[in-house]
Amino acid sequence: MDISELFYSVQGEGKRTGIPSFFIRTNFCNLRCLFAGGNMCDTPYTSWDPEDALNIGKLHIAEIISEYEKNNCRDVVITGGEPAMQKEELVELCTALRKSNENVYITLETNGTIFGEFANRVDLLSISPKLKTSVPFGTKYEKIHLRNIKNHEALQKFSSLKTEGKTAVQWKFVFTGEDDLKEIKEFQKQYKVDNGDIYLMPEGITREQLDAKRLQTIEACLSNGYNFTDRLHIIAWGNKRGV
Ligand code: SF4
Repeated sequence: MDISELFYSVQGEGKRTGIPSFFIRTNFCNLRCLFAGGNMCDTPYTSWDPEDALNIGKLHIAEIISEYEKNNCRDVVITGGEPAMQKEELVELCTALRKSNENVYITLETNGTIFGEFANRVDLLSISPKLKTSVPFGTKYEKIHLRNIKNHEALQKFSSLKTEGKTAVQWKFVFTGEDDLKEIKEFQKQYKVDNGDIYLMPEGITREQLDAKRLQTIEACLSNGYNFTDRLHIIAWGNKRGV
């Protein structure tokens, strides 16, 4: 698989915040987020500028499992980049993780643009659909981002997982300000998402930026019945790789 980094840390976002987890970060993304305030994606080394500085590159699934087993933890978070770009390999990876530990709890973090069998093989899908505020206007990636940002068919399939009761789903939106709420509510209506499955997360890649947006995000959650999630890894370590 195309891997950017493997590391052991705590989950920093969403309903499993604080749980010790082994992170498998895949390389490459089909979007190029550039948020309205000027922040790029928080992992540009997997999207805007995919690199192999850690000399990890392609790894066999057996090598990933061997790293997982060194950390003796239950939770695995598969994140990116966009992991679903390697959807066949994801199925194999989940099978191998369950073989290694029958109690493993697998969270897959995705931007929700690609659906596949992997969705039935994980325990929690953490879907973070990107809003208009993520479009890299005026860059060479504007068109490709706009083309890929919303896959209606994939989103319908992801949203039906809850009614099928197969996989838990949380919908996590990067919150840049009040203007996002209209788009979130339209999305919620279109894909029949319950308030309790929605998390708003302040947009920011430094402690200072999160501090500046936190209260506004919490207030938006309280007025709309959504959950709030912070970005614990940034609060704890700042904008660092491997945490
Ligand atoms: S979808 Fe995620 S990984 Fe891809 S560019 Fe946007 S923030 Fe980065």
